[in-house]
Formats: sequence, C-alpha cells, structure tokens
Amino acid sequence: MKNIIAVILFFSAFALSAKPVLKPGHVTFTTLDLEFLPQDNSLWCDGKKIPLFLFSEKKAFVYLSASYFAQIKNFKCKTVGKKNKVQYFDIAMERFPYKEVFHELKVNKKRVELSKEDLDRAIREKELLQKIYSKSTGVFLFEKSFKRPLNSKLTSIYGNRRIFNKNKKTQHLGYDFRAPIGTPIPSSNKGKVVLAQDLFFSGNTVIVDHGLGIFTMYGHLNEIKVKQGMMVEKGEIVGLAGATGRVTGPHLHWGVKVHGEWVDGLVLVKESEKHLKEEEKLAKLVYEQPNKN
Ligand SMILES: [Zn+2]
Repeated sequence: MKNIIAVILFFSAFALSAKPVLKPGHVTFTTLDLEFLPQDNSLWCDGKKIPLFLFSEKKAFVYLSASYFAQIKNFKCKTVGKKNKVQYFDIAMERFPYKEVFHELKVNKKRVELSKEDLDRAIREKELLQKIYSKSTGVFLFEKSFKRPLNSKLTSIYGNRRIFNKNKKTQHLGYDFRAPIGTPIPSSNKGKVVLAQDLFFSGNTVIVDHGLGIFTMYGHLNEIKVKQGMMVEKGEIVGLAGATGRVTGPHLHWGVKVHGEWVDGLVLVKESEKHLKEEEKLAKLVYEQPNKN
C-alpha cells in the first residue's frame, strides 16, 4: 500500500512540475511551485514583469501570454527573492497552425488611406491605448471563469489574415461575433471600465480591466452603456452592438489583451476554467488537511 502511495505521489509531483506550454497568440494559466517568496510578487520573462497571485507561500498562480508573432523557442522565466535568490521556470513554446484565411474586405477608403487629420487622431488614440494597457490593477478583479460575450456565429476568428482593399494587410487579433444593431453586449467578467469612448478604428469602444494585466475590449458599439472608472459585474451590459469605426457591417469585435499581447479570447475562457478548477482543488486540500491529522 505504502509503495502505491509513493508511486502516486511521485507521479503527481511530476505532473505538477511539467513545463507550462505556450503557443503564439495564446494565454496559459499555470501553477508555480515556489522555493521562496518572490520579493515583488512577480515573474520575470524576457525583461517583462508578470504579476503573480500567491495562493500560499509555496504556490503561485500566473497567466502567461505570447504574442501572435512570438518565436518558436523555449524560454525561462524567473522569480527573485531576498538576497537576489533566483528560481528559474522553463516554459515551452509550441507552434500553432493559424489558418491563412484571406479576407478581402471592402471598407471605406477614408479608413484605410488616412488623411492627415485622421492619422493624427489614430496616433493620439494609439498612445492613449498604450497608456491604458500598461497599467492594470494588481489584484484579481475577475471572478471565476471568463465568458464569451455572445453565443452567436463567429464571422471572423482570432489569427485570420485579412486584406483591406487589396493592399493593407493585418492579422485579425480578436473575434467578430454576428450581432445586429442594438444587441446587448455583456462584460466577459467583473472588472473596472478603463475606457468608454469613440475611437477611430474600433468606433464606440469599451475596455474593461480585470486585474493582473488582463483586459477585454468591445468594439463597434452603437451605444456605450457604462462610464470610465466604474466597476462592472460579469454579464453586465457595457453597450449595444453597432457598426461604428472601421467596419463593413454591424458586429461585435471582442479583443482580449493579456500582459500587453492580443491573445485568443476563447483560449482565455478555457484557461480561466482551468484556474477555477485548480483553485477549488487546492482549497479543498488546504481545508481537508487538518481532519486527516
Ligand atoms: Zn474584429
């Protein structure tokens, strides 16, 4: 019996220490076994500071994200403790086969070849967005798992390559949901509204900060129903679908940004479900322990 338990313990320890796997454009939830308390509550990956959520002195939760354009090579992240103690964590990077789907969209020429005035506006807004995405609340604002905002048909998925008016190429780093004008759009999770205004490209836009570097954005809205600075609950209506900004017709553009990278939002939904299960499992272990002694 003892041997069997030892074997089980060995394999569960092995499973826990398996390398987290990332893919370009993905986000992955992972639990880290800590040798010591990181001084700044952060994981450092390639010079980037990623907030950790400490479950206990020995365990931390983290969401890792990779750019759509990330190189396919394994890398190391680290935590730093007192007296510059360092613990390294290996992260595997695997290829993800994004489909080369070419969309030929006919959009208003004015929104592809920008006038000086529009270009100035687009640059100003880009700077504003960079500022917003660079600071996120340092605690979890979200509760339980993320939800996709609508269950309607996806008219464009994450990672599609698109061509506007035959020359301007972009990757579509979000999801487009079919949504007639006026469709109520709920927030994917609880968070703080950090932007609620009209933008050149995404039209009437709402951005929600869910804490720890996770943001969701809702674009092309006909009407915005929230104000900057307010807290929204999961499922609370942030606006009504529309066709504002650079669009060919009414739809919802849903973007998910994690640690500065646009990632596949439906992967975040799955990873946050994993997070929820892991947290419940660990909490159960903690609560059940005293009874066993
Ligand atoms: Zn879109």
